[in-house]
Amino acid sequence: MSDAANLLRLEDLQVHYPGRGKILDHILGRPQATVRAVDGVDLTIKRGEILAVVGESGSGKSTMGRVITKLAQPTGGRMLFDGEDMTSLTGSSALRPYRHRVQMIFQDAYQALNPRHTVFDIVAEPLRSLRLATNHEQLTLGVKKSLVAAGLTPPEQFCSRFPHELSGGQRQRVVIAGALAAEPELIVADEPVSMLDVSIRAQILQVLTDLRDQRNMALLFITHDLPVAWLIADRIVVMYLGRVIETGSADDITFNPRHPYTVALSNATPKVRPDADRRELPALEGEVPSAARIPKGCRFHPRCPLAFDRCRKEEPPLFDAGHQHQAACWLADKF
Ligand code: SF4
Repeated sequence: MSDAANLLRLEDLQVHYPGRGKILDHILGRPQATVRAVDGVDLTIKRGEILAVVGESGSGKSTMGRVITKLAQPTGGRMLFDGEDMTSLTGSSALRPYRHRVQMIFQDAYQALNPRHTVFDIVAEPLRSLRLATNHEQLTLGVKKSLVAAGLTPPEQFCSRFPHELSGGQRQRVVIAGALAAEPELIVADEPVSMLDVSIRAQILQVLTDLRDQRNMALLFITHDLPVAWLIADRIVVMYLGRVIETGSADDITFNPRHPYTVALSNATPKVRPDADRRELPALEGEVPSAARIPKGCRFHPRCPLAFDRCRKEEPPLFDAGHQHQAACWLADKF
């Protein structure tokens, strides 16, 4: 049954896999640690909404994006698209209608584009593989329309070029045009601007927001950069070690974070607004812990006043901070 409000719903989504373990563990026959790349994520995306998923590397955000685009299978939980359970859908012919509706934009345009294919062939590929164009005329029309939507105009100037003949920004626009060709309802964009110069970044963000406005397309925008998330998103979800630790409107998460980890993430980036306050909290240090040995709580564990008597034993649930703002921290209401 179609879900009128939500286009995508993740319910307790999990991606767990066995860790490699240490040699001594193998010798002694000890059980191997489980890597909890995504560990019980609940999330919804509305039609026409831009949702940013923010987190450091190792937070599980890209794995979740790969599950949504069916490039990886979950090990638990459910994924509903337009009310239909897509969790165990596999096989190219069964997936064809889903791939028509959900497309992905990858971070690295160099790797995403086949250097031996022209721009025309790259953008035409989804139209051919999803059988959305039945003759050359339809194919040409679809390719040109997508190139224009991605800001590559006039399209005739780009069709016969190869990726190495384009600038970094133009290559990323070709990747976007390829994702748009199937006219999807949801695009998952994994760090689409992180490898671009600041001026090009702004242009690509503008292309993506224009597309949402014109086509009512939903966008799941994966990034490590909180200010970029604030610029583009309606809502932000912050992930840490495979879990959602804070969720709310882009303004609430950016200017009124309730989780100390989000505050620290925000302190590690340039201010979004020069007049915005900054909470006094230490900056993040060191690496994200291994997802195979997840400590309870967050990276403030050693410094958190509650860490030793509560957060260590009991994982904090998401507390309601009002206005659909939630944070998973025992200190969320005091902070
Ligand atoms: Fe982190 Fe838990 Fe302390 Fe909150 S209560 S700051 S989640 S360790």
